[in-house]
Amino acid sequence: MAKGKVLLVLYAGGEAAREEPRLLGASENELGIRKLVEDAGYELVTTTDKDPEPTSTVDKELTDTEIIITTPFYPAYVTASRIARAPKLKACITAGVGSDHVDLDAANKRKIAVLEVTGSNVQSVAEHAMMTILVFIRNFLPSHQMALDGGWDIARCAQHEYDLEGKVVATVGAGRIGYRILERLVPFNPKKLLYYDYQPLPQQAVDKLNQASKLYNDVDKIVERVESLEDMVAQADIVTINCPLHAGTKGLFDKKLISKMKKTAYLVNTARGAICVAEDVAEAVNNGTIAGYGGDVWNVQPAPKDHPWRKMHNSWNGGNAMTPHISGTSLDAQKRYADGVKQILTAYFTGKFDYRPQDVIVIDGHYATKAYGQKK
Ligand code: NAP
Repeated sequence: MAKGKVLLVLYAGGEAAREEPRLLGASENELGIRKLVEDAGYELVTTTDKDPEPTSTVDKELTDTEIIITTPFYPAYVTASRIARAPKLKACITAGVGSDHVDLDAANKRKIAVLEVTGSNVQSVAEHAMMTILVFIRNFLPSHQMALDGGWDIARCAQHEYDLEGKVVATVGAGRIGYRILERLVPFNPKKLLYYDYQPLPQQAVDKLNQASKLYNDVDKIVERVESLEDMVAQADIVTINCPLHAGTKGLFDKKLISKMKKTAYLVNTARGAICVAEDVAEAVNNGTIAGYGGDVWNVQPAPKDHPWRKMHNSWNGGNAMTPHISGTSLDAQKRYADGVKQILTAYFTGKFDYRPQDVIVIDGHYATKAYGQKK
């Protein structure tokens, strides 16, 4: 008789997962945790069937689940109603970063711990954001399509092609990912790097950016904190979103805020889809209020086939650089977040509960982090 049940909800990897064992985030490879869970005397149930609530396998298994593990890429939404139907639930573990798929207030009321593998994919996401910025600025997507289609209309490609050098780039949120993007931008010799965050960056972090800028570009003060989000987005050629999704950021980029952006500006969001109002973004791209929107996160995942971001388009440069939610799940990242989950499970199974402090989102009925808008 097992001590308890661990429910693991992951995307189906199919042939790709059979070919590539390092696809640890796929259901076939189970984050490599089966032995660890079974050696601890627990039963591991793995499923891809998470929707719809309340008839999916997740809902059926939840009734006697003690730990649920899922990823942000294919999240099992742990809603208040699911928590109410899971009397034995003690811990929710996110294999990755960002636990907004869990109703954190409902978890707190039941003293369910919510843990994630902080930092496990921040470099991966920063790289994806950089790629998206470059893809837009260099007008890569339509130009690549032209090459595939047999065309050679240089004027059409170059009509909207720029250099990143000399541009103003702004980040909403300058935490682990936002800061890494700023670091990676410096060698491109931008005109200015702006950030909007609750707290100023530590002086040491500002000095590091300014010193690198001096070294690469002979520019002294490259980074600047802006107090007003509206002022910041109005100045930027590129805005990148790197804050968590919480009550204070849900729907932040709506028609009103987007209307403050330059017509030639790009919005890049690798944080969470619901920070933007999907219809307002699509309308802004379609009618040329902004030049483009790109990223990998969607307000519902998997995104429905008719999601407005799948088809949004404009004559500027296509205006659409969306991918499925892949930025934080490179093979390198999968190893890191799978290792992190093992570490969290070990802390739980041994009864020591000696989690890395940065991994704890809520515990014992309290928020242990301010990253979800608490303790500002
Ligand atoms: P982090 O280190 O906690 O940084 C987030 C920063 O945003 C913090 O400085 C936070 O400030 C700030 N912030 C919170 N609310 C804000 C607001 N309303 N306006 C401006 N700044 C605000 O987190 P991270 O590791 O950089 O990750 C950021 C987010 O990226 C995650 O929450 C997750 O949603 C997303 N993410 C996506 C992927 C992906 O695969 N696409 C992977 C990893 C993470 P305080 O600390 O003062 O609250």
